[in-house]
Amino acid sequence: MPRNKNRVVIFDTTLRDGEQSPGFSMSIEEKLTLARQLAKLKVDVIEAGFPRSSPGDFESVRKIASVVKGPIIAGLARAIDADIDSCNEALKPAKKKRIHTFIGTSEQHIKFQMRSTHSKVLKMAVKAVTRAKGYVKDVEFSAMDAVRTDRKFLYDILEAAIDAGATTVNIPDTVGYAIPSEFGAMISEIMQNVPNIKKAVVSVHCHNDLGLAVSNSLAAVLAGARQIECAVNGIGERAGNAALEELVMAIQTRKDYMNVDTGVESKEIAKTSKLLVSITGVQIQPNKAIVGENAFAHESGIHQDGVLKERTTFEIMTPHSIGLSDNKLVLGKHSGRHAFRKRLEELGFTLKTDDLNSAFEKFKILADKKKEIFDEDLTAIVDEEIGEPKNPVFEFLSAQVSSGSNTIPTATVQLKRDGETLTDSGIGDGPVDATCRAIERITSIQGRMISYNIRSLGVGKDAVGDVSLRVKIDEQIFAGRGSSTDVIEASAKAWLNAINKKAVGK
Ligand SMILES: [Zn+2]
Repeated sequence: MPRNKNRVVIFDTTLRDGEQSPGFSMSIEEKLTLARQLAKLKVDVIEAGFPRSSPGDFESVRKIASVVKGPIIAGLARAIDADIDSCNEALKPAKKKRIHTFIGTSEQHIKFQMRSTHSKVLKMAVKAVTRAKGYVKDVEFSAMDAVRTDRKFLYDILEAAIDAGATTVNIPDTVGYAIPSEFGAMISEIMQNVPNIKKAVVSVHCHNDLGLAVSNSLAAVLAGARQIECAVNGIGERAGNAALEELVMAIQTRKDYMNVDTGVESKEIAKTSKLLVSITGVQIQPNKAIVGENAFAHESGIHQDGVLKERTTFEIMTPHSIGLSDNKLVLGKHSGRHAFRKRLEELGFTLKTDDLNSAFEKFKILADKKKEIFDEDLTAIVDEEIGEPKNPVFEFLSAQVSSGSNTIPTATVQLKRDGETLTDSGIGDGPVDATCRAIERITSIQGRMISYNIRSLGVGKDAVGDVSLRVKIDEQIFAGRGSSTDVIEASAKAWLNAINKKAVGK
C-alpha cells in the first residue's frame, strides 16, 4: 500500500463488525462472495472475521485468506495468546495479512469488564502486539473505548504498542459518544503527545449511535488520521459503523476541502451495496445517502428543471460515479446470449459458463413473460444465481394457489429432489402462508418467518416482484430471496432459497 501522506486507508469491517450484528449473519459462501466484491471495490483492508470466536468464523477467515487477492486480509484477536495464535493460523494462506488485536482501555472496561488495572492492561497489550509481530509484519492495535479512556493512559498504551511493533494504532469510539470537533481535537492531541506516533498509521473506528460516525471519521482525517474503519451501508453493532460509501464519496466530492484520497473504485459502490442487501435481505432506507433509492432522484419540478438544464445546479456528484447507469432499458425477448453476457459484464458481473447458462435460461423465461428487461431484472437474476446454494437440495418446479375473499387459501407445490418430483399441498392464512406450508410438508423443514419484504424491480404492471425474507429454523436465521413476475412464485422461491441453505447444512 502506498504510504503517501495524503492517502487514507479504507479498512472494511462489513464481514466482522457488520456481520456480528443481529440480522446480518452470513454463510461462508456468502462472506466469500462479498469479500470478492470488496476486492473489486479496492478497499485496502478486509477484516474478514474474528477467528477464535467460532469454528465457522475461523473457516471463513481462512477461506477468504486463501481465495481473495488484492486487499490485506485482517483477522481480529483479543489480547490473548490463544486468540492471536488462532488468528495467525486462519490468516496463513493470505499473501498480505494483518493481525488486529484489541483491549479495553477505559475505566469502565478495565474496572468493570476485566476487573484489572492500568498497568496489567498495558502489559497485556504489549505482550499481544509482540506475539502478533512474531507472526506477521502488519499488526494493528486497538484501544477499545478510547474516547472514554484517561488521556495520559491512552498516550502511554499507544506508545508502548508502537514500540512493541504495532504499525497501525486504532482509536475507536466504541460507544458512539464523540462529537466531531471534540474527536478531531482528540486525534490532534494524540498526534502531538505520543512521541513515536509517526511510526504508525493512526486509525479511527466510529460508531453511529448519535448519527455522527461519518462526521467523526472525517474530522479525524482532517486532524491527521490515515485509516478509517467502516462498513458497507453503514452496518455494524447497534446503530452501525461509519458508512463506507458516504466516507468515500465525501472524500472524493470534497477533495478541494479534504485534500486526501482513497484507493476505492467508487464505480463499484452501488453494486457492492446491492450485493450486501441481496445476501442479507435487509433493505436500505430510500433516503439513505449515496446508495438509497432516492439518493439521485430529483422529483421536485424546480430541481428537475435545473438538473435538465445543467446537472451541477442541484447535483454534487453523478449517479455514474457510484456505478449507476442512466441507460436502464436493455434487453428483450430476442436478445441473444452474447448481448446478455455483454450487458452483465457492463454491470460488473462475470459468471462462470455454467452459471451464465443457467442465468441465461432464467432470462429467456423472464423475457417471455415481460417485454422489456431492465438492469434491475438482470441484477435480480444474477443475485439469484449467487444466492442459490450450489446444487440446491430442493429445486422449485411450480406452485398453484387458490385464494380469494371467501375461500381458505390453498397451495399445491411441486419440488424436485434427486431427479424425483415431490408434490404436496398446504392451507394457510393467505396464499404466501399456504405456499410456505406446502414447502414445509415436502421438505420436512419447519421455519418461522421473521421478516418479509416485497418490492418491484423496475416499472410497469409487469415488473418483476422481488421477495426477500428471513426465516428462523432451529434458532438459526436464514435469508432467502426470489423473484418472478408472479409474486406468489417469488415468495415460494425465496422461502425455498432459505430452506435450501438449511438443507445443505444438514
Ligand atoms: Zn465496532
